[in-house]
Amino acid sequence: MLEKNREYEALVTDYTAEGQGIAHIEGCAVFLPNAVAGERVLVRIEKAGKTWAAGKIVRILEKSPHRVNRECPVAKLCGGCDFWHMDYAEETRLKAERVRTCLNRLAGEQLEAMPILAVPDCHGYRNKAQYPVARDKGRAYAGFFRAGTHTVVENKRCLILPEETDAVKDTVMDYVNQNQVSVYDETTHKGLLRHIYVRRGAVSGQILVCLVCNGEKLPRVDALVERLKKIPGFTTLVLSVNTKKGNAVLGDKFITLYGPGYIEDTLCGLSFRLSPRSFYQVNHTQAERLYKAAIDLAGITKDDTVLDLYCGVGTITLAMASAAGKVIGVEVIPQAVEDARENARRNGIRNAEFFCGDAGQAALKLEENGVRPDVITVDPPRKGLNADAIEAITRMNPRRLVYISCDPATLARDVALLKEKGFALQSAQAADLFPRCAHVETVVLLSKGEVDSKKIRVEFSLEDMDMSEFQDGATYPQIKEYVLEHTGLKVSNLYISQIKRKCGIEVGKNYNLPKSEDSRQPQCPPEKEKAIREAFKYFGMI
Ligand code: SAH
Repeated sequence: MLEKNREYEALVTDYTAEGQGIAHIEGCAVFLPNAVAGERVLVRIEKAGKTWAAGKIVRILEKSPHRVNRECPVAKLCGGCDFWHMDYAEETRLKAERVRTCLNRLAGEQLEAMPILAVPDCHGYRNKAQYPVARDKGRAYAGFFRAGTHTVVENKRCLILPEETDAVKDTVMDYVNQNQVSVYDETTHKGLLRHIYVRRGAVSGQILVCLVCNGEKLPRVDALVERLKKIPGFTTLVLSVNTKKGNAVLGDKFITLYGPGYIEDTLCGLSFRLSPRSFYQVNHTQAERLYKAAIDLAGITKDDTVLDLYCGVGTITLAMASAAGKVIGVEVIPQAVEDARENARRNGIRNAEFFCGDAGQAALKLEENGVRPDVITVDPPRKGLNADAIEAITRMNPRRLVYISCDPATLARDVALLKEKGFALQSAQAADLFPRCAHVETVVLLSKGEVDSKKIRVEFSLEDMDMSEFQDGATYPQIKEYVLEHTGLKVSNLYISQIKRKCGIEVGKNYNLPKSEDSRQPQCPPEKEKAIREAFKYFGMI
């Protein structure tokens, strides 16, 4: 075991999911904030366990060429960002590497490289901010939590936010200080203002200000509104009532104090209404690129029914609608479902339907009612898919499954589970939606393979993927499985080979029948022939 407070020399070799450096000393993994891989460092051990330890860099002995001076003056204290101490090339390398190793280690893939959608500029991209507020020596201020604590670090100008968003924070805090509005204190559960939540439409420039309060009334709201109106784009002021103890930012009750209570923005060429509760990707440009990649992978045709699980306000669902026959979205937050329905209306989209409920349970119900989507897209929160969702997807047996993920570890876990159900990973791509922060998004395509192989090759130039196994159409077990799943009929190898011959498909050696038709051979009944032919069609064999 390493000794606490002792100093050791170490080489930083890797990163944790949270973006800390990892070094191995005497067989023990040491986690180091603000480290860059490849650096030799002198570290002091601050916490020591049997197999791991937490340390601090005392001195950098050999500096990485990727280390840079921090542009953000509070980066070292603020828990908001993770990577201001390294260049963007290293950041995107480590993010892509994280996705690749997760899929290799947890999902049994053997990916040698992982492409990542990177950004041209790391500044001002976040269209949402949640500032906790605190008081120090009589003065109230707002900022972000220090990593792993609830101490608020003041940040005058956050570099990943647009200027207007910080202007809202400053305006609200001036109002708070001048009107002696009380500030919430977690320990006593007293005080009014807890968080300043700001959402700004990247295209529309509209700003929603939501003040999260431990109560229902704010003093001198008119004065606050007058001040906020001076900020270009200010559209609406909402009060969110959160009187509960705990870490959840928003409360359940929303009171509109000024304006419509929501803002609008344009994404993928469509107009969206956004309420405070509704999920909306924080990086607009990258979200559009990610969704486009996902929609391309979905390979939707006009006859297709598409199921979009975890659909939020229907961003991806509606962006797919014009290419599909029908789209169905499922989302658990009622306000987001309302937004999604309104979003369909305002864009004149008539082939979209939305259901409110748990994705897995709703999908199982849809399946029981005979819904068989050709394509399924899923975009779950960090915990990934639950057992119901996996079960429903398996039963629905879509031609393609596109999985957008914000956690490569749960993605890889789910890919492994889906592989057990007969799906195969066809392509994977990382996307950087959170420059300077450790989170990374991934979009993958899964399918049972065969029908899509040509299309995938054309669209995604996965030239180096081995497609040889797909060339003769589906295997006998795949055909049996398809027939069973779609008709409940069991068919034998013999029947499949008989119908193959009827269709002029070459029959594998083992299933060749004698040249002279043996009358004692059972002959495939018509209903089974029909089912087998359907499977051949499905697998692109006829
Ligand atoms: N696809 C959308 C939203 C993705 S975020 C977009 O890109 O804009 C994940 C969404 O899943 C959130 O809207 C969240 O409210 C929703 N969600 C979380 N748990 C869920 C569950 N069990 N069932 C359905 N939706 C859920």
